[in-house]
Amino acid sequence: MSNYEQLKRRWNRQIQKARNKKMQKIQKAKNKKMQKIFCNQAKKLEKQFVEKANIQNILEIREKERMNRYRKRRDKYPIDWVDDLKESIKKRDKYICQICEIHQDEVDKNFAIHHIDYNKFNLNPNNLITLCNSCHSKTNYNRSYWIRYFHKGSSH
Ligand SMILES: [Zn+2]
Repeated sequence: MSNYEQLKRRWNRQIQKARNKKMQKIQKAKNKKMQKIFCNQAKKLEKQFVEKANIQNILEIREKERMNRYRKRRDKYPIDWVDDLKESIKKRDKYICQICEIHQDEVDKNFAIHHIDYNKFNLNPNNLITLCNSCHSKTNYNRSYWIRYFHKGSSH
């Protein structure tokens, strides 16, 4: 092998080494960049997850609050409102619906006791009236109409 050829080979090796070093540097930089992107994505996902969890929490808390409010309202329902009182109103009204005048014996279901002023805490017998279930469901609508209707009935 000639001197010239040896020099050329060494030269080529050095060039190759330098190239490899450069490529490694580029690859490292690329990896770092990718890592950063992955990190950011992971952070973003984590943030989204936390936000989602928070929303879920808020929804659960709201649902609990709603149920508590409902329970409080339900517990407030007057204890005097027992079957005895209902039965006494029905007896007073002779088990007849005070709107359509059907008798309780003519239907399968028990009659309902309606609060004329729609205040379930007003247990004054003047405020209570016997209705069949069909008529009672009608009183859910046009409340002011039914209030007037029953007040007229009681005035004479
Ligand atoms: Zn009726």
